Amino acid sequence: MTSANFSSRPISKSGLSFVNEQKPVVNPPLWLLAELTYRCPLQCPYCSNPLDFASQDKELTTTQWIKVFKQARAMGSVQLGFSGGEPLMRKDLAELIAAAHDLGFYTNLITSGIGLTEKKLQTFADAGLDHIQISFQASDETLNAALAGSEKAFRQKLAMAKAVKAHGYPMVLNFVLHRHNIDQIDRIIELCLQLEADDVELATCQFYGWAQLNREGLLPTRDQIERAEQVVKRYRESMAKDGNLTNLLFVTPDYYEERPKGCMGGWGAIFISVTPEGTALPCHSARQLPVKFPSVLEHDLDDIWHHSFGFNRYRGFDWMPEPCRSCDEKEKDYGGCRCQAFMLTGSADNADPVCAKSSHHDKILAAREAANRTRTQIHELQFRNRVNSQLIFKSIP
Ligand code: SF4
Ligand code: SF4
Repeated sequence: MTSANFSSRPISKSGLSFVNEQKPVVNPPLWLLAELTYRCPLQCPYCSNPLDFASQDKELTTTQWIKVFKQARAMGSVQLGFSGGEPLMRKDLAELIAAAHDLGFYTNLITSGIGLTEKKLQTFADAGLDHIQISFQASDETLNAALAGSEKAFRQKLAMAKAVKAHGYPMVLNFVLHRHNIDQIDRIIELCLQLEADDVELATCQFYGWAQLNREGLLPTRDQIERAEQVVKRYRESMAKDGNLTNLLFVTPDYYEERPKGCMGGWGAIFISVTPEGTALPCHSARQLPVKFPSVLEHDLDDIWHHSFGFNRYRGFDWMPEPCRSCDEKEKDYGGCRCQAFMLTGSADNADPVCAKSSHHDKILAAREAANRTRTQIHELQFRNRVNSQLIFKSIP
């Protein structure tokens, strides 16, 4: 295990410290997300990958990825997530895990479980993998198949979740919730408890990538959210009584909030994501913004983090127009999500329209109304696959 240069500077909750109100002191990126590939055998209509993923076939080589890991570790990064697409599509995954482990990272595999085998679980354990997150689409085979676009996926996920526990890994089970599966939240929790998940992540859809394209057909109604919250509350109470230590995390959609989330703990504050072909981003959706982001093939990660235009574009508060500039809540939420501001208002400089103080908040109110009216069925959603990606990409001027 190699050592890393940890900053002795105290890190605030957001990861940014401020020497004065306007000038952020940049702390190291604690979290590196390696999006190894956009290849994936499933077709989730809420996938956060870019709509044009089919036109982006290039992937960093094993050597290039390991160079990125070394640079991140030298800066003080401690946690490395292997994501995608489906990271198991990379034949060199065990080699990448071993390299990250030897560098001293805490490693997490974020997978659909498709392509996982008992043998791979053992190989990854030998390579030093610390943690596995498996995502499910639903708590039953039929709905799971309709959402994933694969009949076999559910049984494979069940088998692999059991195998992950049998190999002694800590396991997160992740369910992306939306209007088509949120009403089965009790069955989802039961399934997670039965599979002995250590952590359960019930995260309502965040509207980026394919989820944004399908937003009207995915956003739950307020009634659905409130019912789900009650169910989670009941489970938490009964689990606490039984001494069950499973952590039940329920993330509600910001579309029903009046203030935005403090996206990524602040822009360029604690998180760095690298896309399959090597673009470094301050959040995995930022690629869609009209901002030039650097490539790890051309620049050192330390240089990117501290000096690139893209990573400095929305750091601190200097960039903010009103109403955020003079708002006394800006240190809590940094004006919200730049991607959401861009998608809904046409400018990433605006306040996140989730905020009731934004002059674009009516867009959020309209989406809530649409959620009450829509009758969109699952088969009418746009599924994330190469054909649809190519069609959408062709239609973008
Ligand atoms: S969300 Fe679904 S389609 Fe997207 S990468 Fe994950 S498993 Fe694949
Ligand atoms: S006006 Fe801006 S800083 Fe203030 S709460 Fe709204 S989004 Fe946050």
